[in-house]
Amino acid sequence: MELLKELKTRVYRFGNKTADGNSKMKNLLGGKGANLAEMSAIGIPVPPGFTITTEVCTEYNELGKESVIELIREEVEQSVANIESQMGTAFGDKENPLLISVRSGARVSMPGMMDTVLNLGMNDEVVLGLAKRTNNEQFAWDSYRRFIQMYGGVVLGMKPESKDDIDPFEEIMEHLKHKRDIQLDTEFTIQDLQDLVYDFKDAVKKRTGHDFPTDPWDQLWGAIMAVFNSWNGDRAVYYRNMNGYPADWGTAVNVQAMVYGNMGDNSGTGVCFTRDAGTGENVFNGEYLINAQGEDVVAGVRTPQQITKLGSKRWAELAKIEEEDRRENYPSLEELKPPIFKELNEYQDILEKHYRDMQDMEFTIQDGKLWILQTRNGKRTGAAMVKIAMDLLKEGMINEKEALLLVEPNKLDELLHPIFDPNALKRSNIIAQGLPASPGAATGKIVFFADEAKKYKHSILVRIETSPEDLEGMNIAKGILTARGGMTSHAAVVARGIGKCCISGAGALNINYKTRTLKVGDQEFHDGDWISLNGTTGNIIEGKVATMEPELSGEFAELMKLADKYGEIKVRTNADTPKDAKVARNFGAQGIGLTRTEHMFFEMDRIKAMREMILANTVKGRKHALEELLPMQREDFEGIFEAMQGHSVTIRLLDPPLHEFVPHQLATQKELAEDMHISLQAVKNKVAELEEFNPMLGHRGCRLGNTYPEITEMQTRAIIEAALNLKERGIICKPEIMIPLVGTVKEFEAQEEIVRRTANAIFEERNDKIEYLVGTMIEVPRAALIADLIAEKADFFSFGTNDLTQMTFGYSRDDAGKFLPIYIEKGILKVDPFEVIDQEGVGQLIKLGTQRGRATKPNLKVGICGEHGGEPSSVEFCYNTGMDYVSCSPFRVPIARLVSAQAAIKTTM
Ligand code: PEP
Ligand code: MG
Repeated sequence: MELLKELKTRVYRFGNKTADGNSKMKNLLGGKGANLAEMSAIGIPVPPGFTITTEVCTEYNELGKESVIELIREEVEQSVANIESQMGTAFGDKENPLLISVRSGARVSMPGMMDTVLNLGMNDEVVLGLAKRTNNEQFAWDSYRRFIQMYGGVVLGMKPESKDDIDPFEEIMEHLKHKRDIQLDTEFTIQDLQDLVYDFKDAVKKRTGHDFPTDPWDQLWGAIMAVFNSWNGDRAVYYRNMNGYPADWGTAVNVQAMVYGNMGDNSGTGVCFTRDAGTGENVFNGEYLINAQGEDVVAGVRTPQQITKLGSKRWAELAKIEEEDRRENYPSLEELKPPIFKELNEYQDILEKHYRDMQDMEFTIQDGKLWILQTRNGKRTGAAMVKIAMDLLKEGMINEKEALLLVEPNKLDELLHPIFDPNALKRSNIIAQGLPASPGAATGKIVFFADEAKKYKHSILVRIETSPEDLEGMNIAKGILTARGGMTSHAAVVARGIGKCCISGAGALNINYKTRTLKVGDQEFHDGDWISLNGTTGNIIEGKVATMEPELSGEFAELMKLADKYGEIKVRTNADTPKDAKVARNFGAQGIGLTRTEHMFFEMDRIKAMREMILANTVKGRKHALEELLPMQREDFEGIFEAMQGHSVTIRLLDPPLHEFVPHQLATQKELAEDMHISLQAVKNKVAELEEFNPMLGHRGCRLGNTYPEITEMQTRAIIEAALNLKERGIICKPEIMIPLVGTVKEFEAQEEIVRRTANAIFEERNDKIEYLVGTMIEVPRAALIADLIAEKADFFSFGTNDLTQMTFGYSRDDAGKFLPIYIEKGILKVDPFEVIDQEGVGQLIKLGTQRGRATKPNLKVGICGEHGGEPSSVEFCYNTGMDYVSCSPFRVPIARLVSAQAAIKTTM
C-alpha cells in the first residue's frame, strides 16, 4: 500500500487561474475535471477545487472504502486547505464557513446518470454562520434543507421505494405546504425551513437508524464514496451499456467551492451554448434564473428566461407573449444585467475559440460576481452537428479533416429519418405548442410512464417532466413531450443526445398520471390515443400524421462531398428493389453490394409460382414454375440496373431455406392444393418434408442451387437477359453474380459452371454479349480458411458477416435475442456481435480470408455485405483490412461515407 501511495498523484487542484491538470487529461480527470483545470489555466473564473482521479474509482472498486480513504486522505486534506485559503473561508467554520460541491465526472459526459451533492459542510452551527455572513437567513436555511435532501437521497439512500411512492423528503414538504396552505417552495418561511430541516433529519434517523452526519469531514468522505458508487448504479450501467462504455473507465470526483445563485436579486444561475444546439445556428443562447441554484434551471419547476435579447424575442414569439409583457416580466440577461452579460459573452467567445467547438457552459452569479462552473463540447442534434462542423470550417476555425472528424457518424441518422409530410401537416390540428427541444417528427400512442413505452410499437412518452430514471423509456419511445421544463431541461438535453424528437415546457398541458389523461383546454386524451410531435416547431398535433423521407441537401450535401474527397473505401448498398436502389443512389451509394433475390419472391403474384416450384416433385414441374418466375425476376433486375446507371451491381443467387416460402396455415395450404390440382395431404406432406431442425445450417445457400440446378439457371438467365436488354437501351452494366454460403471449392465450381454455361447459351441465342463476374460470399468459416483455394476460381469475395458471426460464435441469428441482451447486461459481451463486428474473433477470419484470397489473386475485389457494413467501427475495421468496399442499407450510406473519410484521415494523423 505504501508503495502504491508513493507512485502517483491522485488529486489535481485548480483555481485562481492556475491548475495541475489540463483538458488533455480527460481519461484521468474526467471530462468535467479536465475542463475545469483547463478553464482555470486560461484565466476563466472558476470556483477553486480539486479532482480525485478516475483511477481512484477503480482502486475503490478493488480495495474498498477504508483503504482508498487512506490512499488519498493527505492529498484531499491539503487540497481542501487550498480552497479555504483561496476563498478566505474555512470548512466547518461557524463564523465563515466554506461549503463545497461534490460531483461525478466520467471521461465522457453522462447527463444526470451519476450523483451530485451540493452545499456540503453544513450543520446546525454552520447554518447560523452562513446566515450571518450572507445576511440572509432564509437562504442559509434553504441551503441546509436542500443539502439534507440531496445528501439523504444520494449518500444515505433516502429515495422513493417504488414507482408509486413519493420521495420521502418531498412528502414532508408537501405535507407542510398543505398545512400552511401554500403552493411553492419559495413561499416557505424561515421557521418552515427550520421545521423541514428538523423533520428531514428525523426521517433519516427513522429510516436508516443513524443520525444525520454533522461532521463536515464525515459528510465529505460519504459523498466522495457515493459518487464512486454511482458509477455502478443502475442508471449509469444502463447508459454505459447503451453507449458501449466499459466499466473500468470509472468516474472522477470533483470537489469545488460552492458559489450561490440564490443569494437574492443580484444573484442567479444559468446554462448557455455558444451556438444553437438544435439547429447549429451561430447565435449565443441560453437560459437563466434570478435568485436560483443550478438544479432549478434544469428541473423545470420555474420557467427560465433567455440570456440574449434575440433569444428572448424569439421565445416570446413562440410563447405568444407581447413585447411589453416580455420586457417587463421576462427580460433577457442582456437587458437586465448588461455588464454581467458582456463578461459572459466574452468568456463564451474565448472558450469556443479555445476548444474550437461549440461549448455548453454553466454559470452562476453570486452577489454580482460571475463564476463559470463548467464548459464542455455541447451535445447537439445531427442537423446542428453538421451545420456547426461546416460553419467552423468556413469560419477558418478548423480545417477540412477536423470538420469531418467533428461529426459523429451515427448522428447523421437523425437527418435521414422521416419528417412530416407537408400535405398531411396542412390538414392536421395543432392542439398546443411547446418548446422545440429536439427536432424531428414523431407520431405514436400516448404512454404516461417510461416503463410502459414498449407497450405500443409507436409510443409518445408524455410526462410532466422527466428524470434520469426515465432514460430507458425515452429511448424506446418515438418522441417525448413534457409539460414543464425549458430547452435545457432533462428531457430536452437527453432527447437531443439520443436524437429523439422532443417538445418540452408545453404549459397548456394538464397531465394526470392517476387517471392517465392529458387535457388541453376542453380536449382530453387517454393512454393509447395517437398524437404527433413536431420537434422542429414545437407543435403538438392531434392524431397520426403521415411522414416523409428526408433529402440530402445544404450543409449535409457539402459534408458528404467533403467526405468523398477523403474517403478511400467505396460505399455500396444492399438493395433488393429498384425503389431501394434509387434511395441509395440519392444517398450517394457507389453500387450495390448485395441484392437478395429471395425478397422478390415474397410478393403476391410471385409467391404462388415460387410455391409451385418448391412443391413440384419433378425437374419438369420445377422448370415449368421457374419459367413463370423468369420474366418477373428479369424485370426486377432491369429496374435495379437502370437505377444504378452503370454502377456495379452484385446479385446473389437464392439463399434461404425453402420452407420459408411454403404456406404454414391451413387456409393457404388449401388454396395452393386447389391451384395446383393436388390433394391437401400432398401439400401438407411437402411442408412436413421441408421442415428442418436447424434451417440456418440446413438446405440453403448454394446447397439449393447445387441440388436444384434449374434455379441457378433461371436466375442467371434473368440477370444476363436483363443486362443485355439494358445494353440495347444504351445502359452498360456489368453484373456480379454471387454464390452464397460456399464452404468448399467444389461447391463454388459446380455453381460457376452452371452460371457460365447458361450465360454462354444466352450470348449465342442473342448474338450479343456483356461482361460479368462470378464471385462468392465468404460467410462460412471454412471458406475464410480456404480462401486461397476459392480465389483461384472466384472473381470476387463479399464477406457475409451475419452468417459468419452466427457460425463463428455458434449463436443462432434467429434465437440470439433470448440471451444476447442478458450477456450484454452482465458484461459477458460488450456489444451485440451482430451489430458491431467482433474484431477479436470474427475479425481474424475476415483478415485471414482477405489475405489468403489476395495471396492467390493480388487484385481480388473484396467487400462486405453483412449488416455491419454501415456500423462505424466495423466500417473502419473493413478499411483497415484493405477491403475495396462496404455495402449497407440505403439509410446508412451517408454514415458509411463519412466513416470512410474519417478512417482514411485517422491513418494520416
Ligand atoms: C450475411 O450472411 O452476412 C448476408 C449478407 O447474408 P444474409 O443476411 O442474407 O444471410
Ligand atoms: Mg448470409
